[in-house]
Amino acid sequence: MTANENKKPHKVQIAGNGTEMIGNESLINRAQRKTISRKLLLSLIDVAKDKGATERVKSYWNAYHCCSTFTEHNKRLHANYCKTRYCTICNAIRKADKINTYYPVLKNWENPYFVTLTIKTIKANKLKNRVDGMKRAFTKIKDRCKQRHHRGKGMRLVGIKSLECNFNPKENTYNPHYHVIVPNRETALYLIQEWCKQWNRKGQFHCSKKGQHFRAVENLEHDLIETIKYGTKVFTEPDPNNKKHVKKEMKIYARAMDNINAAMKGKRIFDRFGFNLPPQETKEANVRTVENYKLWEFTPNATDWINTDTGECLTGYNMTIDLQYLLSESIDTAKE
Ligand SMILES: [Zn+2]
Repeated sequence: MTANENKKPHKVQIAGNGTEMIGNESLINRAQRKTISRKLLLSLIDVAKDKGATERVKSYWNAYHCCSTFTEHNKRLHANYCKTRYCTICNAIRKADKINTYYPVLKNWENPYFVTLTIKTIKANKLKNRVDGMKRAFTKIKDRCKQRHHRGKGMRLVGIKSLECNFNPKENTYNPHYHVIVPNRETALYLIQEWCKQWNRKGQFHCSKKGQHFRAVENLEHDLIETIKYGTKVFTEPDPNNKKHVKKEMKIYARAMDNINAAMKGKRIFDRFGFNLPPQETKEANVRTVENYKLWEFTPNATDWINTDTGECLTGYNMTIDLQYLLSESIDTAKE
């Protein structure tokens, strides 16, 4: 009997259906996500601490501990999910849920279009203000179009949208933007027209027609995945204008990511407008106490969950050399 086995309580509580263990190829992706996530979160914690942002430090730690232990019962894995938006595991689950919810609705749209709404890029100190402004602008556009539609003068504005922000390390700027899917080309043009009108009022000039993009959706699933991305990319090219970058040159800009997280806090990242979803089933928690179980732990510096009794690895995941290099050499926490 090992020391760990002695520490294991006789009974443990589990909830929900858990994750299938046998033949579940996505577990290896989860091990990779957790490996990247942990490394990234430690850097984000340092940055947030440095800024005195105690609430974010707490959320980052919650994300760090997400799924650190799996309880195996009847060949299914149960865990505590942090549900923060800083967690790559929870975001992947959320994303899959959203795709399952929205795909059946959007596939009935006649001729969906993918739209990107942008405004001028800005420096970090203006980012929060800008994100607030984008939300206000979108609400105003929605209200205006709704009233117009009620008066019988304009089409209904319908779609799904998500807020995303990338960082340009070369210029040290941010480009918060919306990805939108609308049911047809007319709505795409209408939305772009209203967006430009909204940002270029009273002699101000914040967005150009050229900066707005739209195209027909050819692969709905692909564009849904593109839309439901949850916030920001983890890996960034050091020079976004130089398309010849190689994977090895990608970097993680932790301070920029924390700036983006701070600006987006409390903002809904993904939303629908102009339509309702069919009623959704609610999942039952189904909390129960079980006796026959195994524990799998993701210890610090590990890249996989290890069985606390046998030392066996859960997924067999190993980092590639490229990823090892990225995580050890390419996390940038430097101040602006
Ligand atoms: Zn999580």
